[in-house]
Amino acid sequence: MRLSRFHLSTVKEVPADAEIVSHQLMLRTGMVRKLAAGIYTWSPLGLRVLRKVEAIVREEMNRAGAMEVLMPSIQPRELWEETERWQRFGGQLLKIKDRKEQEFCYGPTHEEVITDFARQELKSYKQLPLNFYQIQTKFRDEIRPRFGVMRAREFLMKDAYSFHLTQDCLAHEYANMYAAYTRIFTRLGLGFRAVQADSGAIGGDASHEFHVLADSGEDAIAFSTGSEYAANIELAEAVAPGQQRPPAQSPLTRVDTPRQKTIEEVSSFLNVQPAECVKTLIVRGRDGLVALCVRGDHEINEVKAQKLAELPGESELASEAEIEAVVGCKPGFIGPAGLPAGIPVIVDRAAAVLADFVCGGNQNGSHYTGANWGRDAVISRIEDLRKVVVGDPSPDGQGEIRIARGIEVGHVFQLGQKYAEAMGATVLDEAGQKRVMYMGCYGIGVSRIVAAAIEQNFDAAGVIWPDAIAPWRVAVCVINPKHDPAITAAADALYADLCAAGIDAVLDDRGLRAGQMFADIELIGIPHRVVVSERGLAAGTFEYRQRRASEAEALSRDQVFERLR
Ligand code: ATP
Ligand code: MG
Repeated sequence: MRLSRFHLSTVKEVPADAEIVSHQLMLRTGMVRKLAAGIYTWSPLGLRVLRKVEAIVREEMNRAGAMEVLMPSIQPRELWEETERWQRFGGQLLKIKDRKEQEFCYGPTHEEVITDFARQELKSYKQLPLNFYQIQTKFRDEIRPRFGVMRAREFLMKDAYSFHLTQDCLAHEYANMYAAYTRIFTRLGLGFRAVQADSGAIGGDASHEFHVLADSGEDAIAFSTGSEYAANIELAEAVAPGQQRPPAQSPLTRVDTPRQKTIEEVSSFLNVQPAECVKTLIVRGRDGLVALCVRGDHEINEVKAQKLAELPGESELASEAEIEAVVGCKPGFIGPAGLPAGIPVIVDRAAAVLADFVCGGNQNGSHYTGANWGRDAVISRIEDLRKVVVGDPSPDGQGEIRIARGIEVGHVFQLGQKYAEAMGATVLDEAGQKRVMYMGCYGIGVSRIVAAAIEQNFDAAGVIWPDAIAPWRVAVCVINPKHDPAITAAADALYADLCAAGIDAVLDDRGLRAGQMFADIELIGIPHRVVVSERGLAAGTFEYRQRRASEAEALSRDQVFERLR
């Protein structure tokens, strides 16, 4: 490609509304342009990167034995009713009507469509196992689209779905996909980590997420200092404390805390540590309100809370009015001692071993000191309710927890028979018996990867693409071409030779001043730059510079090729 004929539109200014580096740089390089909230056009430059990511994903999926299909984005309501997800998927599902008032959605994922395909196509166990994948546009009406293509509403996903006669066979394909994902993210040149993820009712090792490690990541990952243990913080177990609860020593005493509501305010006012307080949240349960208690320095883990039998599958805080109606005080003064009897009190393991603690007094403007479980407050049940924190023991017993930030770029999941059961996807087994198939699903956020790669690879001058996904691997820059036709000829020849050798090159023949040209080439992150100048030509050399290197080197033509091979 000759840049003089390419549509490149870079800008110097950092866009005001872009919070993270990848979003800023994708706008400054002109890779994407926003059409509406969370909806973007990919420019020729951006699309070159996106297509390279896509190609690596496709190659490795094919190598792993999966078969590409292409399913529709528009999906009929009836299919989603079969799995009860038309309602359950919630606000993320974009629903649409056609001219006959028939209802459809724009696919946020394709379990229903592929299971429908499979139940029609597959009749016999002899056809199994199979893995179908596609690389296709999804729409999710995210509450807070942000960070550009990182959390978009319309985005490109690779989604794969496998079908099996047995759970064993599914587990085998799961391992195969896990290995394929490892190859994909390695080839993409990204620093990543596979972590255990929440797998809802299925449990066990049935789900892993692949995270690109970056400070701007929206997910927190807990990992061990002493082992390979790594899990999404949503899932990571906070192990039970080693020590027993000490005996009660202080009397229960009501103290005035006129304006102190938060743990920070209360603990500093009463001169105690947050770890000596119990924090109580009131959430909506299946039948009435439920109290969740954690230590003052800990936080409720919502994903763990959602799984409590008392909760309706989600954990929603009760409103101030609901709390006042039942308890008679504002949320900041709630505590487990003396709560109305109908409210179950579910207590985190670490909070359950406290004695003589501080908690809300269930009256506006007051707290208790010297509160004790059993004597003053009933425990309905002890559970693992909190988020792990740095320094907690690792759940596998080896080492301590540390926490890193990650961007979820892939997710593998053993679905079991959930969808096949709901939709009647069966095959006949060897004995001629109908058997519900086992399924796995495997997603990769293709467009999110582009942003995630930038989060890991940039400097003050711009993007630094890993070679595998750079829009071009090498830029040939021509200085003062008008001055001397020999320079143009030498640059043209080098560019043609690079292309002939299969090296993805771009020729910057725009005739810009060197400074301007280099700034653009650095901003758009081309990993290798070769400058053709009058001075070099006289010396028989090219000026080569690797994007991360601080200095350029004078290299012969052969040496340039050696570097790039
Ligand atoms: P997240 O937790 O980030 O919302 P998810 O768990 O809902 O993602 P999956 O259903 O597992 O997402 O989808 C597979 C992959 O698609 C994710 O691993 C992620 O890389 C990508 N993805 C999901 N939502 C978005 C989005 N809004 N914008 C861009 N990519 C997305
Ligand atoms: Mg996921």
